[in-house]
Amino acid sequence: MARPYNFSAGPAAMPEAVLRQAAAEMLDWHGCGMGVMEMSHRGKHFGAILQQARDDLRTLLAVPEHFHILFSQGGALAHNAIVPLNLAGRHPARAMDFVVTGGWSDKSAKEARRYGDVHIAASSAEQGYTTIPDPATWRLRERPAYVHLCSNETIHGVEFHTLPDLAALGCEAPLVIDFSSHVLSRPIDWSRVGLAFGGAQKNIGPAGLTIVIVREDLLGHALPHCPSVFDYRVLAEQDSMANTPPTWGIYVAGLVFQWALAQCEGDAQGLAALERRAQQRAQLLYDAIDRSALYVNMVDPAHRSRMNVPFFLRGDDGEPLRDPNHPRNVAFLRGAEARGLLQLKGHKSVGGVRASLYNAMPLDGVQALVDYMRDFERQA
Ligand code: PMP
Repeated sequence: MARPYNFSAGPAAMPEAVLRQAAAEMLDWHGCGMGVMEMSHRGKHFGAILQQARDDLRTLLAVPEHFHILFSQGGALAHNAIVPLNLAGRHPARAMDFVVTGGWSDKSAKEARRYGDVHIAASSAEQGYTTIPDPATWRLRERPAYVHLCSNETIHGVEFHTLPDLAALGCEAPLVIDFSSHVLSRPIDWSRVGLAFGGAQKNIGPAGLTIVIVREDLLGHALPHCPSVFDYRVLAEQDSMANTPPTWGIYVAGLVFQWALAQCEGDAQGLAALERRAQQRAQLLYDAIDRSALYVNMVDPAHRSRMNVPFFLRGDDGEPLRDPNHPRNVAFLRGAEARGLLQLKGHKSVGGVRASLYNAMPLDGVQALVDYMRDFERQA
């Protein structure tokens, strides 16, 4: 029987083939007599799993050799503290610049304030986080410890389609990106990035695993009170095994990386195929929204996310219905669920509807959503 289509923002739908493989290997991984959850992280079996996962992620994202790939814990929110604990010390006054384009970068900036001198170089708060301020207008300092941005705002549906070149903007600092919700959906220009971090629970795997990819020269600046197991240099030196790593999460992530590498479409393979599909899914849904009189997406079309599409139904007065308890929203979500379209409720801070279209979402799932939206509009 086909599974329903799951539009959750995260933890999110996984590729079915990965779930089936994990289930098949649950009791006995590759004939060793143990499941992955039961094996020592220091043993040869898990060592092989970890190395393969890291190598495959390096291949998929074309991560240069002078970057370390770290498997950590704590989720992206813990790393909102752990990143400043590791990098703020690069500047004598712990100066950190932030570009705030949605709820997640706002949270990151607020957390970092506990560790140093945070300066908001640009913000789209006044526009309700529906756009990205032109980098030419950012008020960056000359040499902060780092500049932080969230390259895909999961709640507000705003995505950086190109990363800024800080040096060209007169800022000599590494760029830190929170790529939690669009990692593995597009290539990353590593020449513009010093550190990327993200929780796994969208495009990668189970919650509990946090990925950090950090340039070699940024290691070794941790503040004295940074917990050792969250000192990125210690993690790099100890092969992500400063303590017991999230072994199950790393294993499932490894299966997802293998699945991603095996994706082929036309002349594209791996990440290129995943990116093309992400474009197709997003276009199908945005086109349906833009063509309709009932639905509206508020985000500047130049900065719309391919992964997270927040939208509203309009009321009889044409205004967007933000209240999740409005009968029209309730009816929409109830009807969607009856059609096997799950977890479409918008984030509580925004309301409305949100469809997250991660890598595991087939185009057929988006087509089913678009068909449902058309049918609902006819009846509304
Ligand atoms: N950053 C972004 C962009 C996110 O989407 C999320 C989770 N939705 C977080 C941070 C928080 O992640 P976590 O819950 O793993 O700490």
